[in-house]
Amino acid sequence: MHSEEHHDHEFVSALKVQEGIEALPQVNQNFLEKYKSKKQSLLSVDEYVQGITSGNRVLLSKAITLIESTLHEHQEISQKIIEKCLPYAGKSIRVGITGVPGAGKSTFIEAMGTFLTKEKGKQLAVLAIDPSSERSKGSILGDKTRMEELSVDPNAFIRPSPSAGSLGGVARKTREIIILCEACGFDTIFVETVGVGQSEIAVHSMVDFFLLIQLANTGDELQGIKRGIMEMADAITINKADGDNIHKAQLAKTQFQNALHLFPPTDSGWIPPVLTCSAYTKDGIPELWDVIMNYKQQTQASGYFYHKRQTQSVRILTEWIEHSLKENFYDHPSILELIPKIQEAIFANKISPYAGAQELLNIYFSKK
Ligand code: GDP
Repeated sequence: MHSEEHHDHEFVSALKVQEGIEALPQVNQNFLEKYKSKKQSLLSVDEYVQGITSGNRVLLSKAITLIESTLHEHQEISQKIIEKCLPYAGKSIRVGITGVPGAGKSTFIEAMGTFLTKEKGKQLAVLAIDPSSERSKGSILGDKTRMEELSVDPNAFIRPSPSAGSLGGVARKTREIIILCEACGFDTIFVETVGVGQSEIAVHSMVDFFLLIQLANTGDELQGIKRGIMEMADAITINKADGDNIHKAQLAKTQFQNALHLFPPTDSGWIPPVLTCSAYTKDGIPELWDVIMNYKQQTQASGYFYHKRQTQSVRILTEWIEHSLKENFYDHPSILELIPKIQEAIFANKISPYAGAQELLNIYFSKK
């Protein structure tokens, strides 16, 4: 043991490196000192905001961690950061991406993402919504190991789904993360989700453009995904259109086109196109980006783009008011105590449910 320790010591000392390089003169020394000493604790709101709005990814990540935290102190500070970042936000194109597991979402995001950062000079943030991630302890979506090239791309930022409970909670956090990413300079936001449930509706309510990734060759192409999700799509792309699969992908494209014709026209006047692509060969990727840009141009010219964002904001406003009022009502101790008694009275036909509700509301409002 002794000789090993000795050996270790020699080994370390042989490789001894300098303590570190000196900070460059343009780095604000005060900030650096403060940042070092506060590494374990919180920075001030202004420090986060200053960092985020000057493109500092480390502080962006730390602020996102505060958004995701359940601690009251973290929640409070994160809300202040978001408020202050809001004026810098909103300038990106937000794209929702969905498809069943195996459709090729992560491969597609890697292909489209690197095309955007390398050939279009974009700054891309990839987020995800996966309310089930609480259970699996870590989301399978937005996972860095699934997007090897993008995860080391200096122009990309990947963040897995917030893993907090309800879909409403996860959606709220993701919306807030979008604001911070935009304030940090990301001009393109992808929000990924699995095409199997309610989470598409949440993603649809926070993006400008909703892309559905489909596959050919599943036998019953139109059955694989819910009709409602197809109706939300601003474009459908049949992925894996490569090798022997090209012909099948073309057939599937026609089938989807025919199916879309049966849907009612969209509010925007936009006719959702069906394309084919390959995340492997990258065929169809630039064309798909052109579609998204055309959509942006067309809807910005018609005003629909802003109208949609405003509608989304108003919906969030009313939804959150309703959510908060409900929570406050049911958290009220007198209400909690009275509800079972009122229920009993209703069951015994002593009062009507309306009278019971009114009595509870009267108590709630008088105690406020
Ligand atoms: P996700 O579950 O939707 O994220 O799907 P993945 O991106 O993990 O892809 C599922 C499988 O399909 C993987 O084995 C990929 O390598 C494969 N895949 C993805 N895109 C393509 C493509 O364009 N062509 C082919 N041939 N395979 C693909």
